[in-house]
Amino acid sequence: MSFPLPEPTPLTQPYWDALKSGRLVFPRCKSCDHAWLPTRSECPRCLGDRWEWETASGRGKVVSWVVYHHAYHEAFKVRLPYMVAVVELAEGPRLITNIVNLPHGNSIALDSPVVLKIEEEEGFALARFALA
Ligand SMILES: [Zn+2]
Repeated sequence: MSFPLPEPTPLTQPYWDALKSGRLVFPRCKSCDHAWLPTRSECPRCLGDRWEWETASGRGKVVSWVVYHHAYHEAFKVRLPYMVAVVELAEGPRLITNIVNLPHGNSIALDSPVVLKIEEEEGFALARFALA
């Protein structure tokens, strides 16, 4: 069974294109300076619709995580165990992602520093992270 892939829209296509070129981008509001992910058309803080893409430094920290020991989708069976984490970028936006280099015992600490590691899945570049 194949890996479930993103379904880009005209709004999110620039995000996926940037990853393909090796950059993680996020929207930043021109009115209040707030930055966010996932991509949406209005600023979640002030609801302004004037924003622009900004390139992330690739640095962040782990703010929440879970280790899966059971696959709820056939495509993930060969990946067990794997970690799904919420990473907060140095610039503020948070994204749900994977930590690719699980430590011994699969145990990490809150605020563990991570760095962006773009990986390809069936033609899509995905933003994953590695413990720094
Ligand atoms: Zn705003």
